[in-house]
Amino acid sequence: MPRPTPGATPEVLAPVRRLPGRLTAPDPGWSVTADVVVIGSGIAGLTAALRLKEELGPEGGKVLVVTKDRLAAGSTRWAQGGIAAALGPEDTPAEHELDTLVAGAGACDPEAVRALVTEGPAAVHELIALGAQFDRDPAGELSLTREGGHHRDRIAHAGGDATGAEIQRALIEAVGRAPEIEIIKRALAVDLLLDGPAGEGGAVAGVTLHVMGEGQRDGVGMVRCRAVVLASGGMGQIFSQTTNPVVSTGDGMALALRAGATLRDLEFVQFHPTVMWLGADSVGQQPLISEAVRGEGAFLVDDAGDRFMQGQHELADLAPRDVVAKAIMRRMMETDRPHMWLDARHFGEEKWQRRFPTILATCRSHGVDPVTELIPVAPACHYASGGVRTDLWGRTDVPGLYATGEVACSGVHGANRLASNSLLEGLVFSRRIAAVLPGELRPWSEPVVDARTAGLVPGAVRRGLQDAMTTRVGVLRNAEGLAGVTDYLDGLAATPADLVDLDAWETTNLLTISSAVADAATAREETRGSHWREDFPERDDAEWSGHLDVIMRDGETTCAFSPAAPSDGEVHP
Ligand SMILES: Cc1cc2nc3c(=O)[nH]c(=O)nc-3n(C[C@H](O)[C@H](O)[C@H](O)COP(=O)(O)OP(=O)(O)OC[C@H]3O[C@@H](n4cnc5c(N)ncnc54)[C@H](O)[C@@H]3O)c2cc1C
Repeated sequence: MPRPTPGATPEVLAPVRRLPGRLTAPDPGWSVTADVVVIGSGIAGLTAALRLKEELGPEGGKVLVVTKDRLAAGSTRWAQGGIAAALGPEDTPAEHELDTLVAGAGACDPEAVRALVTEGPAAVHELIALGAQFDRDPAGELSLTREGGHHRDRIAHAGGDATGAEIQRALIEAVGRAPEIEIIKRALAVDLLLDGPAGEGGAVAGVTLHVMGEGQRDGVGMVRCRAVVLASGGMGQIFSQTTNPVVSTGDGMALALRAGATLRDLEFVQFHPTVMWLGADSVGQQPLISEAVRGEGAFLVDDAGDRFMQGQHELADLAPRDVVAKAIMRRMMETDRPHMWLDARHFGEEKWQRRFPTILATCRSHGVDPVTELIPVAPACHYASGGVRTDLWGRTDVPGLYATGEVACSGVHGANRLASNSLLEGLVFSRRIAAVLPGELRPWSEPVVDARTAGLVPGAVRRGLQDAMTTRVGVLRNAEGLAGVTDYLDGLAATPADLVDLDAWETTNLLTISSAVADAATAREETRGSHWREDFPERDDAEWSGHLDVIMRDGETTCAFSPAAPSDGEVHP
């Protein structure tokens, strides 16, 4: 069936699902106020807080950061490879833009990509001025490397392969030098408080939190505020094997959806091709073998030693992630093996120690010495290219709610994120939010009585949900598997929890996001970027140029298609 043209009314493509319209929680027992609440303390959240404080000035309003665990618990500190920006003398933002659009497989927002690549270099220099120490060559220039999909050396890195840890350290220290930014740790954002009906103009009036603390701020409380910046990271924990840390349970996407925001491009989940394979029974966060290892010359082989990436793509082992992940999966299926191998033995001890000390130590801790042995690797969930839909300035559909970093869908990643563009996205779009938010801060408003239907599923269903998502909504998808998983998830949604606790809140968020991802993956009957349908193996621009958007109204979700022109600079029939 031909799709409507760009700008036409969205076409609803999935059945309505019933999920909790808000999370069951005790009434708030305490209350505080802040002009702006930032949810999350990774690169996106701390950059937003620092920049907002600067833009608001000493009298302009209070900024409060709330974060679920320790400040460094999110994905940021795990980032290895680096941060991409046109920093080299030969490089240009235009070349970075083209590589980003090509990787995004026709689904990027070109204006958002342009903002990312043109503002990227200044944003990285600002991070350096803040105290982040990147690796430099003997002449003192930034040492830049290359990763999959990039045609230039443009990845700045720190501590060899400890880029995220260094960025997180520098940001935490910078926030420590700004005592006027208040921080509440071990505080789970539960739901937004709105001053009107969700999805019908209700604007942010506050947020409910559950704090595991002592004294006055323990248990469920509320923050009354005028704006919320959502920087709560990704949702990798919807799968049983992921590179994401335990806090990545999609809470921010779920609470935004419940409050009336739109989730976009959720089917485009990036599976990193080279995650260390620890055995079929290993679940949770798995060790990543950074793309930069291939950037420095490592290559993939099968059991017979065949370098199967050669001839698959002009960039061979450095092809974009979706291409490499699919090639690995194909060869795994052809040879009936649970993993392939990465060969970097030729680096020798010195290069491994100098460039990839963290990965070297991780491999050795799992009994593999990459100096003398091949590393077993297989694809695993790595990154959510979609998320809460925003405009170019981080605004969502909910007045007063902004989103930045991995939780957001700013449009820069399209169907497949280009390596090392995500740290940059957090930096650039947090700066953009800080540039506009002070000028559009809303007056204080009163939360209305919440009419959304509360609900909760038990934490005990989490493992089954993760297994079902991995088997049926993983790298390879088909209609039969997807139909099975949506039935299964509908069944879980009808299972009430008898305990109100952190596990149940997170698991309900995982279920909400899993249902939305499965619906979008079912609806998109083509293969594009990181979305691979076995039953629709070709990219189909005539039918599928555009975005799938999921919305919720009092717990009922719908998934609709909004057409858009392809954006990868290529001519498609
Ligand atoms: C192993 C690994 C390697 C990577 N390597 C790279 C790389 O080399 N280059 C690159 O560009 N990208 C890389 N990425 C991706 C990148 O690290 C992330 O996309 C990026 O750090 C996301 O930043 P963020 O600030 O949006 O989220 P995060 O850093 O994940 O921070 C999210 C924050 O929100 C908090 N939070 C979550 N839920 C709640 C809640 N309900 N209430 C309160 N707080 C909450 C978390 O505790 C955390 O503080 C990598 C990711 C992983 C996992």
